[in-house]
Amino acid sequence: MSGERILVVDDELNIVDLCRFALEQEGYQAQGVNSGRAALEILAADPFDLLVVDIKMPDVDGLTVLRRARTLDPNLTCVVITGYATMDRTIDALRLGARGFLLKPFGVEELLTTVDEALAQRQREQERIRLRAQLPIWEIGQAQMTEGDVESLAEHLLFTLVQQTGAEGAGIMLLDEKGDELSVLSAVGLAAAALKGTSVAAGQGLGRQALESDEPLILDLHQRDNLKPAWQGIVVGCQAEVLVLVSMRTRKRSVGLLCLGYPPGSTAIPDSERTLLSIMGRQVASALENARMYALEQQRTLELSRALKRQEELDRLKDEFIRNVSHEFRTPLSLILAYAELIGSGDLGEVNTEQQKPVHIIRECALLLKTLVDDMTLLLDLQARKTTRDLVAVDELVRGAVTSFQVLAERADLVLSEHISAPIPPIWAEGPYLRRAVDNLLANAIKFTPAGGSIDVTLCARDDCVVLEVADTGIGIAAEHHERIFDRFYQVDGSIGRQYGGSGLGLALVKEIIERHQGTVRVTSQVGQGSTFAISLPIANPL
Ligand code: ADP
Repeated sequence: MSGERILVVDDELNIVDLCRFALEQEGYQAQGVNSGRAALEILAADPFDLLVVDIKMPDVDGLTVLRRARTLDPNLTCVVITGYATMDRTIDALRLGARGFLLKPFGVEELLTTVDEALAQRQREQERIRLRAQLPIWEIGQAQMTEGDVESLAEHLLFTLVQQTGAEGAGIMLLDEKGDELSVLSAVGLAAAALKGTSVAAGQGLGRQALESDEPLILDLHQRDNLKPAWQGIVVGCQAEVLVLVSMRTRKRSVGLLCLGYPPGSTAIPDSERTLLSIMGRQVASALENARMYALEQQRTLELSRALKRQEELDRLKDEFIRNVSHEFRTPLSLILAYAELIGSGDLGEVNTEQQKPVHIIRECALLLKTLVDDMTLLLDLQARKTTRDLVAVDELVRGAVTSFQVLAERADLVLSEHISAPIPPIWAEGPYLRRAVDNLLANAIKFTPAGGSIDVTLCARDDCVVLEVADTGIGIAAEHHERIFDRFYQVDGSIGRQYGGSGLGLALVKEIIERHQGTVRVTSQVGQGSTFAISLPIANPL
């Protein structure tokens, strides 16, 4: 061991010099004085690791120096120099915490052994405290895992604190959101019941000082008259003589105070114990903060799952309503359509030129409504029905769809072409639904591509998938709509006076159908440049 700071105090200067010389030779930083008064001045100004002090000195004796020095620094280690005449006071010095004594006359060897031993003892003590700190930290961690709510966790933590610190009672005071008030969350030990729920101001004064202090604040309650009445209430509740307030700090802020009530004479809490208390303050703070966050999270999860359930119930009711309404719409709509066609055909009497347009409008509108009702019913059925698949030749299916849209494309002055690279393996699918998906993409491509444009349908097998692409040179879709166009009723141009017809269900149906086949549908598009819708279906589709 070397480098420790040692102060030698003896009224005999030759002893001081001898000790200082011997200690410095050994590698210590030694300083020496020949009076108790001078020693106290030096100790007040500078920290030392070891004090070697003569018991019998004329002005301030060794015992007084030792007592005062330990109030200044409770961790200071001490060795007393004594003679036969002062043996009784040596015992008092040992009671005061001296770690060894040197009987006059003593030799250099004796001095060095005693100093060495005292410093080694001090180091062992520090090590013991460091190890002791591990236990409460472990226990706090355990409590965090086992206690469900913040209050029982707080109580568990307080029992650990009382056990580990020698305090007679302890409490946790939590700071409110605004940082104005500290309220006792939990207390154990003396008068715990009386303390619960008590609160004090935290904006200024002792509360603020304790919250902001890095060190535990130690209050001798004999001086309680200086305290504000609210704090006096806490002090009386604690029934202790010494109250220690430790700020409970998380990484961001202080969340409250740990209050520990100690028995009389506990004001000289050693540094190591203070450090332990500060560590515990942080541990308790993070344990409580975690528990609070966990409780909040649980509450949020509960609320979310309730909201989800409500939403599911609403969705179910809505679907049921739509299914019923659609069903009720079907018959009258079919009748309107049939009569409009009958009137339009002239079978019920001649239709003059003025009447032809309204009849045509009635037919078109009824048709649009029928498509909407059919799409809606199909969508709901798809979600409710079990899948029944057959082996489907997708190339034939796509060829069929392209052929049936040729007339519409020509009428719109568009070039519709197919590019099917052979061979395309058949896949297990629900043929009619798949055809419906392809039809919807083709219908959209025709609807949203101005005259003179083109539509290319490409089919190929790629990476265990059959990939179908419908690419048009139409109006395109801005990126912010790419996700949402697959939602029910979502239309990029949702205005009342829409330019293009449609129900907003076409792509929702495509998505539903393709996902039923474990496939995916994606869009790439740029406004004014056209759009490409790509469907990818796994070849080895499970039944
Ligand atoms: P709609 O009945 O309106 O066509 P869809 O669900 O089929 O409903 O399509 C939703 C919206 O996506 C359309 O209203 C349109 O704004 C946009 N859209 C779909 N396909 C295309 C396309 N090929 N080109 C441009 N916009 C398209």
